[in-house]
Formats: sequence, structure tokens, C-alpha cells
Amino acid sequence: MPKWELKPICDWCQSEQVVEEQQTVYWELPDGSRAIAINETPSVRCSECGMIYQPESIIREIEDQLFLIDTSSIQKEINFQQLLQIPRLLKRNYFAFDDDDTCS
Ligand SMILES: [Zn+2]
Repeated sequence: MPKWELKPICDWCQSEQVVEEQQTVYWELPDGSRAIAINETPSVRCSECGMIYQPESIIREIEDQLFLIDTSSIQKEINFQQLLQIPRLLKRNYFAFDDDDTCS
């Protein structure tokens, strides 16, 4: 069971003629420094109104992840699954006393 569930109904026209698709999306990093391409992002395509969009749950997933990882390690393109596998920096705080570990 995936973490997210794609609703079988179009967000825009309520049609049930939707299929799941993988799309490349372009995403601006939280610090606004640049945008990256995220390949194979789970998306919904509606054959009724032609809309292609990422469900709310996916958008939240990407935003959370970009916020919590070291985005400087990301090249200008990444695969959605790879992106989600990048360890979140927040975890480090459980083990470190302070964030002052940059130099010694
Ligand atoms: Zn639609």
C-alpha cells in the first residue's frame, strides 16, 4: 500500500475518467535559489478535461522532503523515489547536541 492514495476522481471536473501517470515536474527549492526537475512524479491525468496534476498528498510529500533535506546535494534532476529516499536532516538533531558541527 503506497503512502499516498490517488483519488479516482478529477480534482477539476469531478470526472472519473482519470489515469495515474508519471510526470516530470519542476519544483522551486524552499530557499528559492533554483528549480529542480523531479522525474517520475505520481500524477493524475484526466481524459475528460485534459488536466494533468499532482495530488495534494504528493505535493505535500515533495514540499516536506525538500524542506527537510540538504537540497544542495540534489542535482538539477532527480527521480521522485530517489528524492524521498534522501535522509532528512532533522534526524540528525536526535543525535547531536547542537547544530554547531560544521568545523572542529
Ligand atoms: Zn477533469
